[in-house]
Amino acid sequence: MRDYSQSNADADDREETKFIAEAHERGYRLAVRCTVCGHWLVQADSVAAHVGPQCRGKAVGR
Ligand SMILES: [Zn+2]
Repeated sequence: MRDYSQSNADADDREETKFIAEAHERGYRLAVRCTVCGHWLVQADSVAAHVGPQCRGKAVGR
């Protein structure tokens, strides 16, 4: 049996989220562009998802 509890994608996601949180604590604001509409995002959860809240709310697939 192999231990799959730590996939690379998960680890990367966690590192990124942690990095963003730490940056915010230090007063940095990070911005990424929404992968759906290209809008700049600065909210931590949106940055982590690379998708804005409005685009996340829309039905995915199109
Ligand atoms: Zn968007």
